[in-house]
Amino acid sequence: MTQIISLIGYPLKHSVSPHFQQAALDHYSLDVHYEARETEAETLASVVNELRQPQYLGANVTIPYKEAVLPLLDETDDLAGLVSAVNTIVNREGRLIGFNTDTYGFIRALREDAEFEPKNMRAIVLGAGGAARAVSFALLREGIRSLVIVNRTLSRAEKLVCSLREYVLARGSSVDVVALPRDGSKLGNVIKDCHLIVNCTVLGMKHSACERESPLPAHLIHKDVLVYDLVYNPLWTPLLSVAKEVGAKAINGLPMLVYQGAASFELWTGREAPIDIMLSAAKQALPAGGD
Ligand code: NAP
Repeated sequence: MTQIISLIGYPLKHSVSPHFQQAALDHYSLDVHYEARETEAETLASVVNELRQPQYLGANVTIPYKEAVLPLLDETDDLAGLVSAVNTIVNREGRLIGFNTDTYGFIRALREDAEFEPKNMRAIVLGAGGAARAVSFALLREGIRSLVIVNRTLSRAEKLVCSLREYVLARGSSVDVVALPRDGSKLGNVIKDCHLIVNCTVLGMKHSACERESPLPAHLIHKDVLVYDLVYNPLWTPLLSVAKEVGAKAINGLPMLVYQGAASFELWTGREAPIDIMLSAAKQALPAGGD
């Protein structure tokens, strides 16, 4: 029986996970099909429930469901529970276990590909959805000095800040964590002092309504900040163009995509992920865009 791993999200046109996950599965000649399953909100519960059937190894979860799937699962590991966002589901004999491999993928790319050490740095996270949750908790775990969450919907940023502050208190540390609106006047001053800006919104993502938009204008960014765009399709995003304009160092979401996918692959198959094969399949599936 051919086994299945699903990618659950909406929309999915931008995603290259089916390309590089299938390449990794084929590398080991596994009889497993990785399928993109574009899912409307009304059918999310039934699509997740289907994963309990024996032919399913599990799933990846992407926009906009990383938080919404939590109550549909039987269990989450400690990290996914802390972050309250799941990007990987494993089917263990009919029980659905949730994991978060975005945290690992984000930090690995930050250290290895951007050569940035987050300890004692000041960071700004743009967005407050599932990816922003993973990135924010990952930065706190790595000893960031201060963290500002900026989101279109301020109440969502404030909710995330509450959870982050609880975590900071529980660890007995003293990190400054605040929420700011996107269009507020304070944002410029905060950016002047920061070392890292991470875009966790969908702004700039291909096939979205806002594919040509940068989450920040050039005049707000300075050359001494690292600009990290989680968007990977296109590889050259509007935000990266803005970073280049001011001479700031920048990284796109491709290395993170492959590292988080590699960790998911290992959870489903128990095999070592063939990172080079995954990276090259992802690159082949992506339009370069811009530069
Ligand atoms: P999500 O949970 O749906 O969150 C979407 C975020 O984008 C929210 O903060 C939302 O703000 C914001 N947003 C949506 N439309 C907007 C608009 N028109 N103007 C301003 N803000 C807008 O999605 P997610 O799972 O966090 O994913 C976010 C992005 O990260 C996606 O582009 C995804 O592909 C990327 N990502 C990349 C990787 C990687 O490995 N490279 C991993 C995970 C995610 P509101 O709260 O106001 O709606």
